[in-house]
Amino acid sequence: MTLSSHTESPGFVRALSKGYALLILILAGLTPFFTIAYLYYFQDAALRFKQHGLHEIAIGISMLQSGFIAYVTYRCYLHNKEPFLRWLTLGFIGFTVIYGMHGVFTRFSHDHLMLFVLYGPASRLVMGACLLAGLMAYRWQAHSDLQARPQRFWLIWLGTFVVIDVIVYQLAFSPWASLSRWVMEITAMLIMISCALVILLRRIRSSLMMVYALSVIIFTQSSIAFLLGSVWDHIWWLAHAIFATGFMVISYGVIQAFLTTGSFTRVYSQAELLAQIQAEKVRADEALLKLQNAHQALEVLAATDSLTGCANRREFEALGVMEVTRSKRTGSPLSIVAIDLDNFKQINDNYGHKAGDEVLKAFVSLVKRTLRPIDLVGRIGGEEFALILLDTPLTGAVIVSERLRQLTEKEVITVSDARIRFTISAGIAQYGPDGETYESLVETADSRMYRAKQAGRNRVNTK
Ligand code: GH3
Ligand code: MG
Ligand code: MG
Repeated sequence: MTLSSHTESPGFVRALSKGYALLILILAGLTPFFTIAYLYYFQDAALRFKQHGLHEIAIGISMLQSGFIAYVTYRCYLHNKEPFLRWLTLGFIGFTVIYGMHGVFTRFSHDHLMLFVLYGPASRLVMGACLLAGLMAYRWQAHSDLQARPQRFWLIWLGTFVVIDVIVYQLAFSPWASLSRWVMEITAMLIMISCALVILLRRIRSSLMMVYALSVIIFTQSSIAFLLGSVWDHIWWLAHAIFATGFMVISYGVIQAFLTTGSFTRVYSQAELLAQIQAEKVRADEALLKLQNAHQALEVLAATDSLTGCANRREFEALGVMEVTRSKRTGSPLSIVAIDLDNFKQINDNYGHKAGDEVLKAFVSLVKRTLRPIDLVGRIGGEEFALILLDTPLTGAVIVSERLRQLTEKEVITVSDARIRFTISAGIAQYGPDGETYESLVETADSRMYRAKQAGRNRVNTK
C-alpha cells in the first residue's frame, strides 16, 4: 500500500472537495430541522402518542448510555487530566442524574405534569452549561489541583446535581413552573448555540471537535423541537429522538478519543495523520539508509587492514576457505602464495618505523598493480602477506610470483629523501597435490617461504 497523498491533484478540485465535505456536514447537522419543519407544518398538532412504557424504556436506555459515556470520558480525563474532559465528564454525570428523574416521574405526568416535564430542560441546561465550560477550558493546561482529594471534587458535583434535582422538584410545584420550563429550554438552546460559536470563533478544527460541533448543533434543534411541541405530541417525541442523535454523535467522539490518544485536543484530522505518517516514513527510510551505509562501512572496516587497505587476516581466511571449497566443487586450479618481506627489521632500524609502514603500503600497491583483479591479497602478519591466485596452477603461480619478486626488487621507495629498496621471499602451494584445505595449503606455502629464506632470501620456492 502506498502512502502517497493526492496533493498533486488540481487545487480547485481539492477546494471543491473541502467545500463539499463542509456542506455535507452542515446539511447532516441540519437534518433534524427539516424533520421538525415537516411535522410542524404537515402533521396534525392535536395528535398525541401517550405511551408511558415506551418513554420509560427510552429514558432507561439513555441512562445506561450516558452513564457509560460519563465513565469512558472520566477514564479519558484520568489519562491526561485535560480540564475540557473534566467538564465533559461532569456534563454527562449531570445529565444522567437529572434526566433520570424525567424517566422516574413519567407515571406522574397525569397529575403533576411539570414534575415530569421540568427535568428534561433542566438536564439539557446543565449538560449544555458543562459543555460550554469545557469549551472555554479547551486546550488549557492539564491540572493537578484535583490530585490531592479527587473523590471530594466528584462528590461535591454529584451533590450539586442532586441539589438541582431537589430545586427542580420545588420549582415544579411553584407558580413559576411553566415559565421556568421555557426559560430553561431557551437558555439550554442559547448555550448550545454559544458552544457552536465558540468552536467557530476559537477556530477549533480537529476532527473530534467537528463531531462535538455537530452534536451541539443537533442539541440546539432538539431544544427547538421541545419548545415547539407539547407533551406526548409528535414533535415532542421527535425532540427526544433528535436529542438522542446528538448524544450518540458526541458519544461517538468520546469513544474515538478513548480508543486513540484519550484526548479531544490531541486527536488529529485524517489529513494531518497522513502527513505525519508520510513524514515519519521518510524519516524511517533515511534512518534505515544511514544504518545500512554505516553497517556496510563497518563491514569494510572489519574486513580491511587499516594500514595497507588490503584484506586483513580474518577476511583473507574467510575468502580462502570459500575459494578452496569452490575449487573442490568445480575442479578449477588454485594456488596460494605466502610472502615475507626480507630483512624488514633492518628497514625499520635504518629508516624508522614510519618508513617501514610506507614500504608495506607501497608493497601492497605494487601487488595490486601486478595481480589480476580477481586475485586476492591479504596481510597475514606484520610484514607477511598471502595471495590466492584463482584458476591458476603451480606453473602460473610461479610466473606471477616471480614477476612480483622482480618488480619488488626494482622498486625504489622514497621516504623523506631516503631511497629504500627491499626484496621478498615467497613459497607456493597448489590446491590438490599440496593439500585440500585452506589451512594445509597456507601451512605448506609458509614452510616453503621459510625454505626460500634459508636458501638466501629474494626468491620463490615451490618445494
Ligand atoms: P626475515 O627476512 O627473516 O623475515 O627478517 P625480518 O627482519 O623481516 O624478520 P622478522 O620477523 O624478525 O622482523 C619483522 C619485523 O617487521 C619486526 C617488526 O618490527 C616489523 N613489523 C611488523 N609489523 C610492522 C608494521 O606494521 N610496521 C612496521 N614499520 N614494521 C612492522
Ligand atoms: Mg621478514
Ligand atoms: Mg616475518
